[in-house]
Amino acid sequence: MSVTKDYFDITPLVSRRLGVFPGDVAFSRSVSLDPAKGDNILLSSVTTTLHLGAHADAPNHYHHGASAIAERDLALYMGRAQVLQASVGRGERIGLRHLRDPEPKAPRVLFRTGTFPDPESWNSDFASLTPELITHLAVRGVKLIGIDTPSIDPEDSRHLEAHAAIATYDMAILEGLDLTQVPEGLYTLIALPLRLEEADASPVRAILLRDATLLSKL
Ligand SMILES: [Zn+2]
Repeated sequence: MSVTKDYFDITPLVSRRLGVFPGDVAFSRSVSLDPAKGDNILLSSVTTTLHLGAHADAPNHYHHGASAIAERDLALYMGRAQVLQASVGRGERIGLRHLRDPEPKAPRVLFRTGTFPDPESWNSDFASLTPELITHLAVRGVKLIGIDTPSIDPEDSRHLEAHAAIATYDMAILEGLDLTQVPEGLYTLIALPLRLEEADASPVRAILLRDATLLSKL
């Protein structure tokens, strides 16, 4: 997590140490050409789950036949976003009662739970979302929900109720965000997924701009 004057980087560092769901394929990088060994360039390749660190789930991940990540409207992943603290315990699903003010102030809402504090040290009892909260936000115009845990459903969930609610409203999901340094408030989110054909997810580089007019000055 790095902070500059103008934006928060809410992307955990991608490395082989980054935790992935039990049984999923961890990130690894192999070097095929290396100047340290006399090659003229550095060249490497990676193997990884697409649900790596900060990532966007595609609808086909949780709904058979639904759209892949390459088909998603990028407008979902950039624009006004609200960071909301959820006063929720480990292993709980966030409901309206965990929010000081449950009325969303932006079409994208990112929940800071603090229940998955170290992305390099996996804990199974992270917080997730209730389908009721998703419905509450959807009917108020929210189109993206993000969270600072690996999933919007509990790790051992079989029915994936929160993902199903997301599918009902065709909302977008960001998981695995690092919101530890980000105060509650309104920001501009940019978190674009890669254009991966048929893919069920994509890692994203997610940032929160304090002031969107910054972009016009770059
Ligand atoms: Zn995912």
